[in-house]
Amino acid sequence: METMPVPRQTFMPEVKRKEPAIRDSTIVMKQKTCRRLYFFEVVCGFRLRGRATAYLAFGGAYHVFREVLEKTQDLTEALKACMAYWMKYGSEPAVGTKYDFLTGRRLMASCEEAFKHWKAEKAQGKIEVIRGLVEGPAVVTLSDKKTKIGARFDQVTRWDGRLMPRDFKSTSKNKKWFERGLEPNDQFSRQSLIVWKLSSELPFCTSVELLVNSKKEGPAIIPLTTARTEEQLLKFEEGEIYLSEELANCREKDMWPMEEKQCNYCDFRVVCRAPTERAMMAQLNAGFEQKTWDFTAADVNADPGEAEAE
Ligand code: SF4
Repeated sequence: METMPVPRQTFMPEVKRKEPAIRDSTIVMKQKTCRRLYFFEVVCGFRLRGRATAYLAFGGAYHVFREVLEKTQDLTEALKACMAYWMKYGSEPAVGTKYDFLTGRRLMASCEEAFKHWKAEKAQGKIEVIRGLVEGPAVVTLSDKKTKIGARFDQVTRWDGRLMPRDFKSTSKNKKWFERGLEPNDQFSRQSLIVWKLSSELPFCTSVELLVNSKKEGPAIIPLTTARTEEQLLKFEEGEIYLSEELANCREKDMWPMEEKQCNYCDFRVVCRAPTERAMMAQLNAGFEQKTWDFTAADVNADPGEAEAE
């Protein structure tokens, strides 16, 4: 994976840096939240050690189900692949924990619900999944000829002949909560811009298909859409280039300012409040592990902060 150069390393000089050159939504959101957080999580790849990731496996297994179902058009094959993923990465949650409803049984019920939705959609005959246009992890270079942005795609489709990327989300949030987050939304703007650049056709909208499961609700499939105009995407591109230049300045000066308004819920609070760099290093060594961020990796490696939306 291509990484950014390190022109200066005076802050925490003993820590290895592997900042990805391709900017996906997750890492850009870190930068927008706090430059110091970006430094810890993206430049150095620190993550809280031993964070529970069982709920990520649920979403990952569901994505596998949708992918194999589309490829094979065969429910049995899709369920087999989904279960194999769940057996490898998932586990039955302990009763009374936050995500104790995300069981293997709920996963099967979710796949059945999604299959009903998929069949009804096929019978309607309006949607066509396009192969070979934009698939999996995709990358484009922006108009400054330097900034590279990337995104993973679940599907790119045509709805009634019109271009429409589609994203499958497994969430415990309700429809209203999710609708509020569709616009502005970095991920969907980024996906639209990438599809537009790669296909030379402006997508008429992005489809966001929710699989909702919570303690009280679900499984339920809720389709939503969100659209971006040409003007919005051009502004988004300008913003991406600006943010990329801002980071070049951070690298040049090795300066990663703190955004204290964001600290209350941040994993790195324990590090940032340490009085010396040596004490900060001790906190990092004690509670965190280092893993290079790679947006092309499978969902099970997804960023925990994004888990609800993945
Ligand atoms: S604790 Fe605050 S300053 Fe430190 S990384 Fe987190 S948000 Fe940034």
